[in-house]
Amino acid sequence: MKNEYDVVITGSGPSGAAAAKGLVNEGLSLLVLEKKKLPRYKICSGIIFKKSLDITEKYFGEIPKSAYVTPELLKGVRFWSDDENYKDYPFNKDGNGVPNIWRSEYDYWLVKESGAEIKDCHLLTDFTESDDYILLKAHDNLNDKAIDIKCKYLISAEGGKSVIRAKLDPEFEKSLKWFTAYQNYYEGSSNLNPQYYHGFLEPQYGEVYAWFSVKDGLQVFGTAAAKGKKIKPYLLKYTELLENKFNLKRGKMVRKSGCIGNNMCPEGKFYLGKNNVLLVGEAAGFLNAFGEGISCALTSGMFAAEAISEDIKSNGNALELYTNLTKKDRRQTTVSWRLGAKLAGRDLMPI
Ligand SMILES: Cc1cc2nc3c(=O)[nH]c(=O)nc-3n(C[C@H](O)[C@H](O)[C@H](O)COP(=O)(O)OP(=O)(O)OC[C@H]3O[C@@H](n4cnc5c(N)ncnc54)[C@H](O)[C@@H]3O)c2cc1C
Repeated sequence: MKNEYDVVITGSGPSGAAAAKGLVNEGLSLLVLEKKKLPRYKICSGIIFKKSLDITEKYFGEIPKSAYVTPELLKGVRFWSDDENYKDYPFNKDGNGVPNIWRSEYDYWLVKESGAEIKDCHLLTDFTESDDYILLKAHDNLNDKAIDIKCKYLISAEGGKSVIRAKLDPEFEKSLKWFTAYQNYYEGSSNLNPQYYHGFLEPQYGEVYAWFSVKDGLQVFGTAAAKGKKIKPYLLKYTELLENKFNLKRGKMVRKSGCIGNNMCPEGKFYLGKNNVLLVGEAAGFLNAFGEGISCALTSGMFAAEAISEDIKSNGNALELYTNLTKKDRRQTTVSWRLGAKLAGRDLMPI
């Protein structure tokens, strides 16, 4: 590892991988810092929607078989308005379905495929900007050692909770409202059709919606609530519904996990960066309704790479270029929340 790069990307999820891929293609020196050990677990339903699939195949290639789970393809989402009535929304026109994957495998493949230098177990802790460069403070968790790295551009691909965003604009950070998502993975069975991703829209099961899918035989289900509110009552009620109406049999619990998210995208509060620091993916607020975020993570990462490359070539302004390039995607993600609310018949993120 060197101590100076053109660009450092913090986070190795799809937004970081896409930014890395674009910058490597331009021949820039580049480092990806990832705080976790790779391949890392990421709470997710692991559905690669049509737009994500098209971008993945165009820029990275075919998703390796090792990333797929059983069932390999999901036909669509089945939205339940109550415990008996549902409507199906196919994921693609031909009805064949879209990939059902493990994020650990998919994300690791993406970032390796970018060809960038990657340092996992490295946490970005702080940074300072000067006229000539950005000085990063990181912690090498493997060797328990603090390190300094210089770069010209910094990309935050850190997901919803971003150290970089908090440092750039503490007031913006204070204005955010947060929700908690929680997901269980059980061995077992149920009579919900495993070829579909299921969404339960009744507010008694959660404040966004409650979801269910099958991955390699595991019964994966979860829900979300505003931070500070108790999620357990929602989860208990939802588990009861699955057991009583859909014959869920729970065997060994294989994993339980949680995360927090915020109200940036549902409220159109994007934060794209400052000076030579750009934010991509969920760190910038890119997340579509019902929690689909891989497609806009990929596009925003690629746009950040394009903006930085253009800036270097023509002495432009990376943030301005990035702001223009993401205009359509920002509009699309904001519209998706409005359409989602219409479909659900209520506000999808009442926080
Ligand atoms: C329950 C749930 C289900 C979902 N299901 C789907 C789905 O089926 N399909 C879909 O398209 N989207 C789904 N999403 C949304 C999707 O997971 C996210 O939108 C997407 O992962 C965002 O990508 P990203 O690259 O911005 O961030 P992330 O994928 O969150 O990656 C951020 C990375 O940055 C690292 N990091 C953070 N801070 C630091 C730091 N300071 N230093 C170093 N590294 C750091 C993290 O460890 C992480 O690896 C789901 C989300 C949730 C919560």
